[in-house]
Amino acid sequence: MAGIDIESLATVYPNGVRAVDGLDLSVADGEFFALLGPSGCGKTTLLRTIAGLENASEGTVRIDGADVTRLEPGKRGVAMVFQDYALFPHMSVAENITYPLKVRRVAAATRATVAEKTSGELSLQGLLERRPGQLSGGQQQRVALARAIASEGKVLLLDEPLSNLDARLRLEARTFLKKLQRDLGITTVFVTHDQAEALALADKIAVMQTGKLVQLGSPREVFARPSNTFVANFIGSTPMNLLEGEVGATDSSSSGTVEVAGGRLPAATGSIPTGAKVTVGIRPEYLTLSTGDATGPSIHGIVVVAENLGTSSLVSVDCAGTLIGVTVPEEDEPAPGTPVNLTAPVQRVLLYDQDSGEL
Ligand code: ADP
Ligand code: MG
Repeated sequence: MAGIDIESLATVYPNGVRAVDGLDLSVADGEFFALLGPSGCGKTTLLRTIAGLENASEGTVRIDGADVTRLEPGKRGVAMVFQDYALFPHMSVAENITYPLKVRRVAAATRATVAEKTSGELSLQGLLERRPGQLSGGQQQRVALARAIASEGKVLLLDEPLSNLDARLRLEARTFLKKLQRDLGITTVFVTHDQAEALALADKIAVMQTGKLVQLGSPREVFARPSNTFVANFIGSTPMNLLEGEVGATDSSSSGTVEVAGGRLPAATGSIPTGAKVTVGIRPEYLTLSTGDATGPSIHGIVVVAENLGTSSLVSVDCAGTLIGVTVPEEDEPAPGTPVNLTAPVQRVLLYDQDSGEL
């Protein structure tokens, strides 16, 4: 078992693209760590640089305390699962799983034992003699995982491990992967562009944007307090409301308010001066919609439309010309045209700098 420490890491491709652009990151021993970001932000490159499949141009990679920056991939003690699984089509499942051991000249009898044991852990019993082409997508994915685990690396690197599975299988595989990682306790970095997957699986999430780290935190932290408007836009299955606002005057009784969409909300304005323009971030899940009078600062609006999200509804409310999304339980869904008041607890109202987008 081992942690990963990355310092000032940059990976520059020969064409000059700085795919990883000065990044610091620590993954703790045994942690299930998600690298999350939109397509093209450098996730795969970072993973491949940790594995040694790309050369670091600047900075260092340490695994289990040892500097591996210039070490060849086979000597780093990492096991990687590629997005397309990269199984050998002409080999059986057992041969695929134990291939890394064969390369290391582990005896055939030992390899057979490992194949048997690993196939049990990954629910591949009875499939050891098949070829990859005779397996479902989910089974192929588990063979790729089995091969990584059988190689007994100190860290497991997974590049979008679930992205090639259909929606239903993906949910099953998610649960499976979480349980497997917990049982094995192996330090795991997995790459995904799917924020829901990262929130569901990871102990910790690193959000990347154009080769840089923009936020590091637990799923709850990243969801509740995105550190800038990019992360705010990217995380959450319903988009965060990002609204133009102005810091209101503070009176002695309240902690501060922000004027937004023709109304007011409580806000921790801190040292931001009265009258300052800000971007107000509020998740639809954190707003409360009421048809009666609101006590305290609120925003008045008219329900435009409600969208069914399953057990809840996303209600769009027109507030002085600004549309605000609010999530309500499906049984509380108001009819279009209903006048409503919106409120939110002060700790849920985030104020971002209008120019930099930073919290
Ligand atoms: P992600 O996995 O987040 O989608 P990648 O790491 O694949 O991102 O790519 C990051 C950036 O590096 C992109 O701009 C991509 O076009 C570029 N890139 C990726 N691989 C190469 C390569 N082999 N040569 C040159 N540029 C590359
Ligand atoms: Mg990628």
